[in-house]
Amino acid sequence: MNCFEARQEFPALWRKTATPERSAEVYSHLKGCAKCDHAFRVFALSAPVLHSAVEPERNAAEFRRRVAYRAQRGLSVTRPAREPRRLLAMCAGMMVLFAASTAAYLSVAAPIGSYTDEITNSDSGYEFPVDTAPTSNDFAG
Ligand SMILES: [Zn+2]
Repeated sequence: MNCFEARQEFPALWRKTATPERSAEVYSHLKGCAKCDHAFRVFALSAPVLHSAVEPERNAAEFRRRVAYRAQRGLSVTRPAREPRRLLAMCAGMMVLFAASTAAYLSVAAPIGSYTDEITNSDSGYEFPVDTAPTSNDFAG
């Protein structure tokens, strides 16, 4: 069994649907091939995530089936309302995100002084350019 053939078997191996003989072949390849061994470890780590990403597709199929069922009977075909609890969770998540981003923004850009402080504070850091700096003569009538 070469590397390509071994990697073709990864999904079946992970789902435990490969035949015992085939599994044994793959495992013996993994023992002798560090690259495939690593690839299988990475695959096994990411497979549950990829597997869960398949679930919305199942929901979509279920949704299409329901729409077809309702359309056949002349019922209104509207998108089913989201589960209230899920909507609540989404709102809560958005509020937490907003609060966190506001806190993060204020911790970085907290206003130190008001605008009035800024223009009356002699230590504001602003310096007149030397040759245009007003002198007391400029203000004398
Ligand atoms: Zn290999």
